[in-house]
Amino acid sequence: MPAGRFKSRTFRRVFVRTPGARTVLHYRKRKPKAAKCGCCGTALKGVPRERPYKMSNLPKTKKRPERPFGGNLCSRCMRKAVVEKARPVEKPEEVKEEKEAKSKDEEKKKQEKVEKTEKKGKTEKVKKEAAKEAKEDKPKKD
Ligand SMILES: [Zn+2]
Repeated sequence: MPAGRFKSRTFRRVFVRTPGARTVLHYRKRKPKAAKCGCCGTALKGVPRERPYKMSNLPKTKKRPERPFGGNLCSRCMRKAVVEKARPVEKPEEVKEEKEAKSKDEEKKKQEKVEKTEKKGKTEKVKKEAAKEAKEDKPKKD
């Protein structure tokens, strides 16, 4: 008869072959649930279901797939994430609004620069320089 604590299914049952060729029932603690994808929630492949003490002793390469987002996202979601990062999908309306906002900001900046130069009473050369600077979106890094 099994001991009282082994009568329930708290422990899992493992058949172990002894050296004397007998099969014996062993009671072991249950394994944790499989790791899930952070995006779609499917079980991750290549991530072992083991108790923490065993996971800590495993080499890092055997704990998760060696690719970007390995152990966090499934391969499908990883592909999506990489593609989205490379070319972000934006709605055409949002893009237009952003462009308008940018152009408005640039116009304001240009006007402010011109006003400043006028107030200081500097020569036309300074005005031209300010206009050039305003036209350039990104200053050169050297
Ligand atoms: Zn996924």
